[in-house]
Amino acid sequence: MTVTERHMSTMDHSYPIIILHGIGTPQRTLEPGEDVFWLSQLQFNTVLDTIVEMGPAAPHITFDDGNLSDHDIAMPLLLERGLRADFFVLSRRIDTPGSLGEGHIRALQSAGMTIGSHGVAHQDWRRLDATALHAELTESRAALEAICGHAITTAGIPFGGYDARVLRALRHAGYTTAYSSDRGTMNPHAFLRPRTSIKGAMQSSDVAAILAGQMPILQQLSRMIGMGSKRINRPWKQLRL
Ligand SMILES: [Zn+2]
Repeated sequence: MTVTERHMSTMDHSYPIIILHGIGTPQRTLEPGEDVFWLSQLQFNTVLDTIVEMGPAAPHITFDDGNLSDHDIAMPLLLERGLRADFFVLSRRIDTPGSLGEGHIRALQSAGMTIGSHGVAHQDWRRLDATALHAELTESRAALEAICGHAITTAGIPFGGYDARVLRALRHAGYTTAYSSDRGTMNPHAFLRPRTSIKGAMQSSDVAAILAGQMPILQQLSRMIGMGSKRINRPWKQLRL
């Protein structure tokens, strides 16, 4: 291991967070390019079994988009193994075919799962003006709070799309934690927590590396620069890693 590699591997003593989307056969029309994020039930079971074997070093599990499979497939398989997860729900899809309904969200909550906001309409928050961004952050939360009966304080950022303005808006709206898609591992005390998506076409060795929080050195460096750049809104386009 080189000095640089040693430095990169010890710079955060934290654990990975994975993002899952849909499991099994979609019950709604998918957005373009969304199909790659769906896993078969067999793949999902393999991921969960690996997580159980990992014990305390296991990644934190999150689900985005509020698909019906969160309730119908994921919840019982998680509970069977004594696992919990965070579910980030799109408020405009609630009670539409193929997505979670109010009763499903309450059932997830009753089973010990955490409900968070994924916004209203699955938009890239960087592209919205201040009024529209505020509406995404507050209307989605209000809808979920009305269903859950308590404060919603976590957000899963759609498409992992954020910049300094989005982070300011999230804090200003009262969120205490925002989950991005920057890969790698997280500091459990950080406001912004990077996650890694598991995709259906990934090799099992790649999935195992993600679950273990391993990332090739060039990816680590690229991520570090990318996250720093996004936080301060300064494009760092001249660097290609
Ligand atoms: Zn999403």
